[in-house]
Amino acid sequence: MTFEALVTSRSEDGTVSSALETLDNSRLPEGNVTVAVEWAGLNYKDGLCLTGGGGLVRTYPHVAGIDFAGTVEDSQDGRYAPGDRVVLTGWRVGEVHWGGYAQRARVNADWLVPLPDGMSTRDAMIVGTAGFTAMLAIDRLEGLGLEPGSGEVLVTGAAGGVGSIAISLLKRLGYQAVGLSGRPEHADHLVALGAASVLDRAEFLGQPDKPLESARWAAVIDNVGGNVLGKVLRQVKYGGSVAAIGNAGGIGLDTNVLPFILRGVTLTGIDSVMQPFAARQSAWARIADTFDLAGYGSLVTEIGLAGLPDAAKQILAGQVHGRTIVSLQ
Ligand code: NDP
Repeated sequence: MTFEALVTSRSEDGTVSSALETLDNSRLPEGNVTVAVEWAGLNYKDGLCLTGGGGLVRTYPHVAGIDFAGTVEDSQDGRYAPGDRVVLTGWRVGEVHWGGYAQRARVNADWLVPLPDGMSTRDAMIVGTAGFTAMLAIDRLEGLGLEPGSGEVLVTGAAGGVGSIAISLLKRLGYQAVGLSGRPEHADHLVALGAASVLDRAEFLGQPDKPLESARWAAVIDNVGGNVLGKVLRQVKYGGSVAAIGNAGGIGLDTNVLPFILRGVTLTGIDSVMQPFAARQSAWARIADTFDLAGYGSLVTEIGLAGLPDAAKQILAGQVHGRTIVSLQ
């Protein structure tokens, strides 16, 4: 049996490129469950894996795709049987293990999560790693005391995948979400998703820096890092929390101790990759109950495998808004 895959290779001069290939099943990596992939996602990390960035992919040829959803074709594990609908995010699939940019994937059963009832494989990839991580961040912030009455929740990188889904989830859960975006042209989409307002990143960063600034945010979901994270920390209200998810704006963090020692601010890190099964299952169940999939429809772009090399460059350049999903059917 054969299947179509987008195979990423590195030439002798170090150039990384991807091309469609028809592969035999014997090329599938080791694993105890084989999945017919129906939909995959496009995430910032996929952009890195497809272009050789960040040193994430060590072995070539490679099949990227850090998240996918599909139907089990064959299982050597008692938890899964042919016909089961499953979703996979994280576990370094698409980085060190072949991922979702192929019609067939072979993985470890421990990495899979059964799809919640009523959620299609397409729905699952609209959510994808981005929505799963946004849900984890909200769960964590609530664990640290955030409640709908606590005040405004700032979401940075708001027009991206994590940011836009975070805004939608926050709205559904009764929070007042404010977006911070470098692309004010997408503000209308974010307001339609539920943002109370959208701040322009250039204006936000242009305000003078002080060791402590006016306290405004009950909590922050940060997808950007760098100077944005440094500045938002100085604006968090007493006892508030900041969930650091991403580094789209840089890995640096220039801050000082005053927000922590004078306002009791918590900076907490969110990792979606190594989450245990129980946490995954509970986050996906809450997403299924909460996420307004119909309302998010205008932010979904569908592409095929052949569109991925261009889409990878766009997501790394901060030009993708909402979620891009990849059809493998
Ligand atoms: P997207 O590319 O969809 O969104 C990132 C957003 O960040 C962009 O839309 C843009 O928002 C903003 N941005 C991009 N470049 C810059 C820049 N140079 N300076 C400031 N802001 C910038 O990515 P995702 O939403 O999928 O992921 C967001 C981040 O979270 C990434 O860094 C990703 O690697 C990370 N991530 C981490 C996970 C974890 O487990 N910790 C899981 C998933 C993602 P706007 O257009 O509104 O300005």
